[in-house]
Amino acid sequence: MPENRCALCGGRYDKRRVSVDLRNQREGLIAFQHGLVSPHVPAEVCNQCGDTLFAPATTHRLLQIAQEMPAPDTTIQVPVYDLAA
Ligand SMILES: [Zn+2]
Repeated sequence: MPENRCALCGGRYDKRRVSVDLRNQREGLIAFQHGLVSPHVPAEVCNQCGDTLFAPATTHRLLQIAQEMPAPDTTIQVPVYDLAA
């Protein structure tokens, strides 16, 4: 895969794991609920401006999850301490 240069600032993309809020991806398309967040999504992030790219397969999978996620009967909050961040 050829090295991508950021179209916004010309920076280099680093492979990283990012958290994606699926509500942002699907807003207006589904009835979403709190906590629909996928952590550790593989992405390429510009080391200068933070622009984030996802592979087509990753984008497809995220949208698939967002569409298939049934509405829960109730939700709870759980504290998460992510040492990998
Ligand atoms: Zn950039």
